[in-house]
Amino acid sequence: MSDNSQEEKIKEALFYKRLNSKVKCNLCYREGTISEGKTGFCKVRKNIGGKLYSLVYGKACFYSVNPIEKKPFYHFWPGSFAFSFSTVGCNFRCKHCQNADISQAGPDETAELDLPPNKIIQAAKSSSCEGISYTFTEPTVFFEYCVDTGTLAKREGLTNNFVTNGYMKSEVIKKSKEFLDAMRVDLKGDQAHYQRMCGGIELEHVFQSIKEIFRAGIHLEIITLVIPGENDNKATVELLGSFLE
Ligand code: SF4
Repeated sequence: MSDNSQEEKIKEALFYKRLNSKVKCNLCYREGTISEGKTGFCKVRKNIGGKLYSLVYGKACFYSVNPIEKKPFYHFWPGSFAFSFSTVGCNFRCKHCQNADISQAGPDETAELDLPPNKIIQAAKSSSCEGISYTFTEPTVFFEYCVDTGTLAKREGLTNNFVTNGYMKSEVIKKSKEFLDAMRVDLKGDQAHYQRMCGGIELEHVFQSIKEIFRAGIHLEIITLVIPGENDNKATVELLGSFLE
């Protein structure tokens, strides 16, 4: 496939810098520098001809209609339903991920649905959902798809929420404020847990994102998945609790 025909099926990325033939992605704190012809750590963003592209725009791999409490949100539109979808790809490598079959896959490793933003909105409305949830994998890595879907959804009176690991950079949070009503962020454990279980993640960046989401005035809920013997020790609970105070 030539670059031109490939470009017709993909979307130029937001938030990146060109560095001669390489590109630097500024979407998440991985801050990947990607050589020509290569994809980033999340597998869904590719350098083609010195420009960065999303390979999953309009290509959901899974969707379902869920009660908002299943996300879980407890204080955001209780009793409502969210049309929930994702693409493949993630910037984390959590050993305990319950959706690893899609979060750790690349675009050629699962079936892709043809679901551009307008079809997502139609599907949400026809299934009587009050909102859209960007979930199951990590919405940060399919952010361009989220922006266009979320903007349309807002115009149609639907709410938008992210279920996220909170590893996005400041520019992403600022842009999210234009269409996003709520974020539910995982705060997974202490630094050793993030290093050992999630693929070399820096807890300080998650803390930073949580502060910025809060300051941006986006409805914020935080959960910690407790793994007995892994992240339920007193020091971890006190660390996370004191941050949230
Ligand atoms: S979004 Fe993907 S390509 Fe961009 S820095 Fe993060 S892992 Fe790398």
